Amino acid sequence: MTGGECYACAREGEFERLPAYERIAVDEHWRVVHAVDCALPGWLVLLPRRHLESLAELTDAEAASLGVWQVRLARALGEVTGCRKAYVAQFGEAAGFAHVHFHLVPRGEEWPVEWLGPRVFGLLKAGERAVPAARMDELAGRLAAVLAG
Ligand SMILES: [Zn+2]
Repeated sequence: MTGGECYACAREGEFERLPAYERIAVDEHWRVVHAVDCALPGWLVLLPRRHLESLAELTDAEAASLGVWQVRLARALGEVTGCRKAYVAQFGEAAGFAHVHFHLVPRGEEWPVEWLGPRVFGLLKAGERAVPAARMDELAGRLAAVLAG
């Protein structure tokens, strides 16, 4: 797959024009975004900044900061959303989303059973229920402030 067919690479290619929710935090290797077309406020996605489709393709340097990012994001989500913990998942099966990406899902205190574990993915492809861009940007600002602190 080329970058042109990949949602993550297409966004990376227009980095300077990205909304806040598409660049919540960035370093040399990773970019943190809010999940798009998603019904759950605070659902984050951690992306390598180059195209790869298997975890096995990460360099040692990328791998070294992966765990640190996951833990930092889990802590920031706890601070901003009050979640009891964060789910972490990596599949890359949706069309246009083969680019390695880690979902960090803020697991709320009082969730219906239909949202627990992998069933939470039912909150994606949300259509009209999706978190509006303005709300994603607001959360992005709060998360970025915590992450910068
Ligand atoms: Zn890509």
